[in-house]
Amino acid sequence: MQKVAHIVGAGISGLSAAVRLANANFKVRLYEATQQAGGRCRSYFDAATNLTIDNGNHLLLSGNHHAVAYARSIGTEAGLVGPKRAQFAFVDLTTGKRWQLDLGDSRLPLWLFDPARRVPDTALRDYLALMPLIWSSPARLVGDAIPCEGLLYQRLVQPLLLAALNVDPPEGSAGLAGAVVRETLLAGGQACRPLIAREGLSAVLVEPAIRLLQDGGADICFGHELREFGSSSDLVSELKFGEQTIALAPSDAVVLAVPPRPAASLLPGLKTPSKYRAIVNAHFRCEPPKDMPPILGVVGGLVEWLFTFPQRLSITISNADRLVDMPREELVQALWRDVCQASGLKSDLPPWQIVRERRATFEATPEQNALRPGASTAFKNLFLAGDWTDTGLPATIEGSVRSGNRAADLVVAKH
Ligand SMILES: Cc1cc2nc3c(=O)[nH]c(=O)nc-3n(C[C@H](O)[C@H](O)[C@H](O)COP(=O)(O)OP(=O)(O)OC[C@H]3O[C@@H](n4cnc5c(N)ncnc54)[C@H](O)[C@@H]3O)c2cc1C
Repeated sequence: MQKVAHIVGAGISGLSAAVRLANANFKVRLYEATQQAGGRCRSYFDAATNLTIDNGNHLLLSGNHHAVAYARSIGTEAGLVGPKRAQFAFVDLTTGKRWQLDLGDSRLPLWLFDPARRVPDTALRDYLALMPLIWSSPARLVGDAIPCEGLLYQRLVQPLLLAALNVDPPEGSAGLAGAVVRETLLAGGQACRPLIAREGLSAVLVEPAIRLLQDGGADICFGHELREFGSSSDLVSELKFGEQTIALAPSDAVVLAVPPRPAASLLPGLKTPSKYRAIVNAHFRCEPPKDMPPILGVVGGLVEWLFTFPQRLSITISNADRLVDMPREELVQALWRDVCQASGLKSDLPPWQIVRERRATFEATPEQNALRPGASTAFKNLFLAGDWTDTGLPATIEGSVRSGNRAADLVVAKH
């Protein structure tokens, strides 16, 4: 008889677990509380701009091997697009200075040895001062491991770590930051090519997975919010969705791929991260200037990253709790000023939308990182997935896919 895997939560973690289990010949049943898959990584039609936009600009790097392999497994690797070389354009709004960081296409960080490809006005010794980060303990603060000042910090380390950790870098976990640096900057340009789901997050990372699962015979149940587990001894025996209760056979497995808050209420006693940070995105409907790079790092402004899409410029600001309650009109004016300065546009404010994700990621501090559980639970047939589980990475798509794969591999190993 075909073994059954129940996946709760259709974000990237749940989807990657589902796809892996379907490929391992499990009958997959996927339950999602909302009417749409994708969770914190999704697209939707926005009436204000009359465009389909993403809830947030998501940047992957070519060194995010599990995320890229996930896209390959659902047939959409080609939908992750970016420049051929790992080049990052930057502008400093305080000085008007522009530069390009060229990480090349090697498997080694050779760019460090070429002054023309490094961050301007930095020396090799500045980079060597970052070494303590590489194998740091997760319990250590970034601010205790490396110097959080100077030009290299302002122009590269701060933007990179802020985007990766979603906290002010000095308060972040050095272990998590080190994992990012090891897998990207230290792995050479070949691991740092920026990749974007240009046709939208849902079109590239979500809907094809749902179609693949459905074509393989999986049941996808939207509007199914898990309220409670039923259990008998050390097995989960029931999934209770309000009106509907699903009884599990002893051989059935469950992957719980929901955010920390619902996970903690479904599994009393489970330790989970409990503090979050916001990310703010804004989208402007306009014709981007022809010479705009796909991604522009912005230093010295409110905007941190500027993304170029067809008919749209979009910005990202991490660690953005300070902006969550700011009046939208006031915020958009400030953002548009930065966009004009960074892009050279001189037009009036075009149609726009601001998306504020209050709980975008758990706080990547040593304290919160210590609360991340592994995938196994007290129930032998229940496994956890999610960017907040103990993946060794900050809350990212790469971490989500790894967590989904790990939970799926445990299901396969135990059944
Ligand atoms: C604005 C923003 C920008 C980001 N930028 C980047 C980036 O540039 N690069 C990057 O790598 N990562 C980025 N991330 C992080 C990335 O989006 C997340 O790490 C990833 O999407 C998390 O996936 P997940 O499946 O673990 O969780 P979620 O996406 O939260 O999925 C959980 C799912 O479970 C469902 N659910 C909840 N409770 C229940 C229940 N009781 N029953 C059934 N279903 C339930 C939810 O509706 C949801 O669909 C960003 C995140 C945000 C918000």
